[in-house]
Amino acid sequence: MINKDRLAETFMQLVRIDSISKEEGKIAQTLFDLLSELGASVVRDDADQKIGGQSGNIIAKFKGTAAVAPIMLNAHMDTVEPGRGVEPVLDKGVFTSKGDTILGADDKSALAIILEALHVLNENQISHGPLEVVFTVCEEVGLLGAKNLDFDLISAKYGFALDATDTQGVITRAPSANHLKFTVHGKAAHAGAKPENGINAVQIAGSAIANMQLGRIDRETTCNIGLISGGRAINIVPDQVKVEGEARSHDEEKLEQVTQAMLDSFQKAVAAARQAGISESLPKLDVKVEKEFARTHIPEDHPVVVLATQAAANLKRNMICKATGGGADANVFSQHGIALGVLGTGMTDMHTLQESVKLDDMLATTELLLEIIRLHAHREGV
Ligand SMILES: [Zn+2]
Repeated sequence: MINKDRLAETFMQLVRIDSISKEEGKIAQTLFDLLSELGASVVRDDADQKIGGQSGNIIAKFKGTAAVAPIMLNAHMDTVEPGRGVEPVLDKGVFTSKGDTILGADDKSALAIILEALHVLNENQISHGPLEVVFTVCEEVGLLGAKNLDFDLISAKYGFALDATDTQGVITRAPSANHLKFTVHGKAAHAGAKPENGINAVQIAGSAIANMQLGRIDRETTCNIGLISGGRAINIVPDQVKVEGEARSHDEEKLEQVTQAMLDSFQKAVAAARQAGISESLPKLDVKVEKEFARTHIPEDHPVVVLATQAAANLKRNMICKATGGGADANVFSQHGIALGVLGTGMTDMHTLQESVKLDDMLATTELLLEIIRLHAHREGV
C-alpha cells in the first residue's frame, strides 16, 4: 500500500525547499496545501509574530472515523545551516546532499513519512481515529515554535514525534534542563595607565568557571558553560562579562544541586574579588536561571509505549524504550501535558555535510506509523 517512489519524491521535493529556521514561509505553504488536499482542516498559529519568523506552526486535523481519543503526529519544518540550495542525491537507496550542504533529513524525512502515511490512509479509506498533525517552526533555534505554539488549538494528549535516528526505538525519557545566565560587572580602567583602578570582570568569571565541575556529573546529570562574551579592547580592564551555560538531569533534585553549585561558584568568585577590592558595590553579579525544558518520563504502560511496542511486534520488529539528553520539541509538549514518544526515521549525521537517510528506513517507519494508527483506531477509552 505504501508508495515507495512517492515517499522518495515527497522527500526530495521537501529538501529542495530552503527552510532555515525563521525562514519556513515556503515550506509551510507547501505543507499547508498538501495537508489540505489530503482532507485535513489546516490552520497556522501566530507563533511567527512572537518569534519574528516567516510562518507560524501548522496544525492539521483529520477527524477520522473511529471514536477514540486523538493522537498527535509531530515533526519540525526548519533546518540548520548550511542548508540553502540543497540538492538531494539518491545512491544505492541512500539519500545524501551533493556534499556542500546538510541534507535536511532532520526533520524532512519525518515530514515525508507522515505525509505518505496520510496518503495511504486516504486512498485506501482505512479507518482511523482523530489525527492531529503538528509541524513546528524554529525547532533548531531553541524549540521556539513549540514554545510559542497555540496549545488551545490542540486536543491530543499523546502521540509521536518523528525526530530521531533509531527506527527500532522510542524515546520516552528526557532530562530537565536549566539555562543559566551570569553577568559579572567589574570596573573599567586604562590597562596601561591606571590598571589598579579597574576590576577585571573577565578574570573573576574565569576563576568562577575554573572552580566548576563541568561535563558529565553522573549517569543522568550533565552541565556546561557554552558562551562567553565581554571586554571592550585589549587596553581596557574589562568591566563586564556575560557567561551562559546549562545543567541537565533526569533527576530534579540533582538538577537543583548542579545549578546551585554553578551559582555558588560565581558568587564565591565575586565575593572574593570584592573583599580584595577597591569598591564597596563592585564587582557585582547578576544571575538569571530559566527552565529550558522539563523532565519527560513516559511510563511503560502508557498508550504511547503500548502502541509503539505492539505495532513493532505486529511487524515482527524490536522496539525498545530509550532515554535522550533532551532538547527536542517533545520536551516542550511534555511540559504542556502532551506525551510524545520520539520515533526514529533512520536519519544519521544530522547537522553535518555527511547527513544521510536510507529510503528503506523511511519506509520502515512509515509502516510502523501506519500500524500504530491502525492499532490506535481499535483501542477503546484511550
Ligand atoms: Zn530535528
